[in-house]
Amino acid sequence: MTQEACGFGTKAIHAGNEKDSRFGALSTPIYQTSTFTFDSCEQGGRRFAGAEKGYIYTRLGNPTAAVLENKVAALEGGETCLATASGMGAISSCLWTIAGAGKHIIADGTLYGCTFALLNHGLSRYGVEVDFIDTSDLDALRSHLKENTVAVYLETPANPTLKITDVAAVAELAHAYSPAIKVVCDNTFASPALQNPLKLGADVVVHSATKYLNGHGDVVAGFVVGKADFIQQVRMFGLKDMTGAVMDPFAAWLLLRGLKTLELRMSRHCENARKIAAFLNAHPAVEKVNYPGLESHRGHDIAARQMKDFGGMLSFEVRGGKEAGMALVNGLRLITVAVSLGDAESLIEHPASMTHSTYAEDELRAAGIAPGLIRLSAGLENAEDLIADLEQAMAQL
Ligand SMILES: *Cc1c(COP(=O)(O)O)cnc(C)c1O
Repeated sequence: MTQEACGFGTKAIHAGNEKDSRFGALSTPIYQTSTFTFDSCEQGGRRFAGAEKGYIYTRLGNPTAAVLENKVAALEGGETCLATASGMGAISSCLWTIAGAGKHIIADGTLYGCTFALLNHGLSRYGVEVDFIDTSDLDALRSHLKENTVAVYLETPANPTLKITDVAAVAELAHAYSPAIKVVCDNTFASPALQNPLKLGADVVVHSATKYLNGHGDVVAGFVVGKADFIQQVRMFGLKDMTGAVMDPFAAWLLLRGLKTLELRMSRHCENARKIAAFLNAHPAVEKVNYPGLESHRGHDIAARQMKDFGGMLSFEVRGGKEAGMALVNGLRLITVAVSLGDAESLIEHPASMTHSTYAEDELRAAGIAPGLIRLSAGLENAEDLIADLEQAMAQL
């Protein structure tokens, strides 16, 4: 049986693994080394020139990270993957490779707060032009494409509103305008267990592997996945020279460990989120629930088509706005107040004052992030306990 034909869970465990020829270790060894020795000056020269295969220095590549990169490429259905020190390391290494002064990027307005800051306050300082639009509105996308557009950047489901964008439709429209435009999709919220943007037509997938891919709240990491020639550019320019955001070999090993259970974990995250969304949706104290699995969600049909399941993330507003929302969060005993997501522990936060505090008030409004919006990452606990905790906190309002 070829690996290509295997199911996702099998690939997550086996894809990319290399037999340890020395001792037969089952677990991938951690090559905790900064540099690699050469037999001679000439050999070092050949490695730098690319005339001989082999490692040089961990910022350019590392055997533990390479196993992980090959695994994640297989899980996303991409040719090649680059491991990075963080999700922001992945996103900035990728965008520094694509963009330059005089180039134009179209980005969705609803993004992870630091991605928004990078595009809005960072790249713009260096002469990159950025338009923020709603990428789920194809007419808006069509009217913003122009000659110097080099990328369309989006998240789906988006953080923190869970807005869904039709990746195939965006890719088709952008590529019809110019095949050179890179459609970059942040797949952090869905994970490759639920969605493969490259198979839908995107050119590049970026990840905060800090979240579901690692899944245990103990690593900060990221990935860029795409065509081999582009990822080589990101590795040899965006990461090597621009950001230096290289993944540590130990972080790579922790990710190899976390990924083994990704499929199992995602199905529990989805089940818990579905139950919590149903509970909140029926609760009189709740004004609005954003969960793509609810039929009332604006992007439900697209999500049902492009995702295997609806994910472990949801957001909601309680009646009484920001104050009531914060009081609810403060009244919880089991669900933990923290940013980040995709961990075993259920985590809850208030985007306007935390993850999305890089947005000005009018930018929050434009992105649909209400002042009272609460974001919840459904963990791996028993759903009944999570719902009981929400119930007791609601009763205190
Ligand atoms: C957390 C996150 C990031 C940033 O990743 P880090 O690993 O924290 O650098 C980017 N995108 C999304 C959707 C995220 O949730």
